[in-house]
Amino acid sequence: MMPAAPRQILPIEGGAVVSAVATVLEAQGVPADVTPNRRTVELAEDAARMFQRLARPIGVWASISLADFAGVFGGEGHNAPETPVDQTAGRADDLALFAVTVGDALPSRIAELFARQEPALASMLDAHASEGAELAAHHLQNRYVDWLSGTGRLGAESGALRYSPGYCGWDVSGQRRLFDYLVPEEIGITLRDSFLMQPLKSISGVIIAGHQEIFDFENTFGFCEECSTWACRERIGAVLGGMPDETA
Ligand code: SF4
Repeated sequence: MMPAAPRQILPIEGGAVVSAVATVLEAQGVPADVTPNRRTVELAEDAARMFQRLARPIGVWASISLADFAGVFGGEGHNAPETPVDQTAGRADDLALFAVTVGDALPSRIAELFARQEPALASMLDAHASEGAELAAHHLQNRYVDWLSGTGRLGAESGALRYSPGYCGWDVSGQRRLFDYLVPEEIGITLRDSFLMQPLKSISGVIIAGHQEIFDFENTFGFCEECSTWACRERIGAVLGGMPDETA
């Protein structure tokens, strides 16, 4: 199954995927209200410089009809019976599959640092790379939204949200059909038998665009009980322009 088009490959400017040192330290377990010691800050700054030297961010998106997305989402038949992904997608105006990566030099360097018994620097670089992949996905989503706006398909009360296989009831085995459709191999992302992507610091999924109201839902699915982040709350809050009820 190949995309009907449009499809865009977007090299991403390196500066767009560099996180603030404070963000990376928080990801490493240093609370925002705690002042880290000098050595920790130096490690984070060294890792930031290393990240900027090695990162090669790039992404691809391809629009997809709801009917084709239903086929991709169905995957190998292992999804949860109800998910926010298909429920939201079913009410969307536009859908696009996407994949981004910050390149394969970073995972290699991280492994090398661990092997050289430099776990602190390796962990900091790993955190920069993970945050960088998130920023790359965010950047690509914004470019897709720009493209929709340019075609006049996005109204004033529209928004966009992305979901990935492996989260929110979409089984990770869904990667196979996503890859069949999107062909991210063209930008250097391949899929292992385990459904992990190569390079490791890559993100794939679907961008759902439509009226803001379609994104709001109560996180009371069975799998939400095991979710440690409730990341949907903040992301939905951003789309709606405020934070939804935390007790939902
Ligand atoms: S609570 Fe977690 S698992 Fe449930 S929808 Fe939100 S992000 Fe997904």
